Amino acid sequence: MEQLAIFGGSPVREEPISYGRQYIDDDDIAAVAKVLKSDALTCGPEIGALERKLCQVTGAKYAVAVSNGTGALHLAAITAGFQEGDEVIVSSITFAASANCILYCGAKPVFADIDPDTYNIDPQALEKLITPRTKGVVAVDFTGQSIEQDAVREICRRYGLTLIEDAAHAIGTRYRGQSVGSMADMTCFSFHPVKTVTAGEGGAVTTNDEAKYRRLLRLRAHGITRIQEEMIHPSDARWYNEQVELGYNYRMTDMQAALLCSQLEKLPAFARRRKEIAARYDRAFSEMPQLKVQKEIPESDTVRHLYILRLNPELLNCDRRAFFDALWAENICSQVHYLPVYRHSCYEKLGYEKGLCPNAEAYYETSMSLPLYYGFTDEDVDSVIYAVKKIIAYYGK
Ligand SMILES: *Cc1c(COP(=O)(O)O)cnc(C)c1O
Repeated sequence: MEQLAIFGGSPVREEPISYGRQYIDDDDIAAVAKVLKSDALTCGPEIGALERKLCQVTGAKYAVAVSNGTGALHLAAITAGFQEGDEVIVSSITFAASANCILYCGAKPVFADIDPDTYNIDPQALEKLITPRTKGVVAVDFTGQSIEQDAVREICRRYGLTLIEDAAHAIGTRYRGQSVGSMADMTCFSFHPVKTVTAGEGGAVTTNDEAKYRRLLRLRAHGITRIQEEMIHPSDARWYNEQVELGYNYRMTDMQAALLCSQLEKLPAFARRRKEIAARYDRAFSEMPQLKVQKEIPESDTVRHLYILRLNPELLNCDRRAFFDALWAENICSQVHYLPVYRHSCYEKLGYEKGLCPNAEAYYETSMSLPLYYGFTDEDVDSVIYAVKKIIAYYGK
């Protein structure tokens, strides 16, 4: 094995590669250009077309497209009725937005530990945190793998909690054959460019509940309604619309909607390729005792958004920092997903302390993400595996 690049050897990759990137083809470009030549850049026909497509893909009855995944979580949290004095249980290993949406409503995020093998919210840890103040749960399908739907939904049903699923990683994933997006009270998606399909910026909430759907639609546009039944002062005057509650402008543009519709046509191909790449990494790494492969629950047919390289510190003479820096020196630009949310200084200031979720903290100390995206070839995957082997040959016990 060659010398590590970090010590002056030649890097495995000539050019830096990132952990994720979008795939845009001529159909996507044509779809956006067509909207730009049309009359409606926003509030036009592409939004409805996208929402119908999202219902098809997720099996949900209703979908509301919004400006980004964070906006989707915010509107879902309001619609769930979270407010001051409430507690809402949330996964500890997730992007901060999963918990921020609880703070936006004035409620208190309560962090649940992860399962040490799947990295998803541990249903037993979740149940232990329930108090009379608990109103709901925000659970993330981390890396794209479905949460344990049966266990989590049963707990929410038993205690009367609203379940918001943060499926920013999980479009296309199925649980016991049912698509993510059709199972929780509300499911939130993100269409940021690193995610499996993109709108540039974009998000959506799906639900099977008509009342929640109506509320989400209204909150997306300032809390203003044109529906007489929703008004305090109903009028059939054509100019009249009424703001009945405080909402936001979280609309998506028609350019974004058209791009996402075109991307969703490619979702089956994107999903297939992501599964192939994850399986190729898994095959190589499961033979290496210095590494730990993420456990897949058999119920989840996962479209993987992230591939996590997890170190076994007992069999390595280096920490995560040295391993991570060695990967970067090989031009493999890893990232870490994620710092436990409560360890951010913003949350520290609210009184959350280190030690709250031991599995999440142990996970954080030993993990990093490897490149995983549609355009990544088998050769590319093998070059990353080669780089990992090179680092382990040097640091491994
Ligand atoms: C990306 C992401 C979000 C936020 O989505 P944006 O579209 O960037 O606002 C929320 N939760 C998770 C788990 C994410 O990965």
